[in-house]
Amino acid sequence: MVHHKSAHEIEGLRAAADLVGRTLAEVARHVEVGVTTNELDRAAEAFVRANNAEPAFKGYRVGRNIFPATLCTSVNDQVVHGIPDDRPLEDGDLLSVDCGVVLNGLYGDSAYTFAVGTLSEDNAALCRATFESLQRAVDVARIGGRIGDIGNAVQSYCEAEGFGVVRDLVGHGIGRSLHEEPSVPNFGRAGSGRKMKDGLVICIEPMINAGTERVVTGSDGWTVRAADGMPSAHYEHMVAIRKGGSEVLTTFKYIEDVLGQAPYAEAELESSSTGPREPIANHPV
Ligand code: MG
Ligand code: MG
Repeated sequence: MVHHKSAHEIEGLRAAADLVGRTLAEVARHVEVGVTTNELDRAAEAFVRANNAEPAFKGYRVGRNIFPATLCTSVNDQVVHGIPDDRPLEDGDLLSVDCGVVLNGLYGDSAYTFAVGTLSEDNAALCRATFESLQRAVDVARIGGRIGDIGNAVQSYCEAEGFGVVRDLVGHGIGRSLHEEPSVPNFGRAGSGRKMKDGLVICIEPMINAGTERVVTGSDGWTVRAADGMPSAHYEHMVAIRKGGSEVLTTFKYIEDVLGQAPYAEAELESSSTGPREPIANHPV
């Protein structure tokens, strides 16, 4: 069953979403060559708890598996659900960080892919395309549209760019649970699927691979990797479908304040400002 949120609930979800954005910015402050993902995780957990919230992923159970950390940290060919560890990050690593919190009984969930040191041009292109596909998906998440419009926006863009769109993991509704109906796939036909109505709150989260779309789950029961060992990127926003215009509840603004603007972002702003969409602001890779 899909639960459509009241204005009051959306207010609470906005607060949870904002805290996730600030937590990811706290992570951004610490991302550098030599840092371990366990160190990032400890910083994130302390920040969440200092803000009177709880980590949403820590203790999350699927069958017999219990997720042990505040962050999912997925490096290079890890797609999502990577478990933080003591391996120092290396120059050129692609680091996807996914964070969930629960604040006053309402959930926030967002993800961002960071560059550790300097990325290869290929990995930067993968991040740009994944980020762009999220923007395109957010643009079609509106009243009267259908869930298939979202998947189609991600799939059509990323496949045209030559990337693999992960099928086995999808976005989701969110509210008083971390994962609610409906599922929000990153592939599909425009005009298909459930109609989006006022008060629907969903997480849109393209998981895009440099190579094959196929993924495998590791023996830890969590870590999802690209089956061909090629890199993967992941960004996630929470979007509230509202009369009078949808609202992106999460924000990367705090992260961008920490990271500053990537050199190519200016050119991207110029080219996208000619189109009908909002320009991509400060997407640092
Ligand atoms: Mg997430
Ligand atoms: Mg999610």
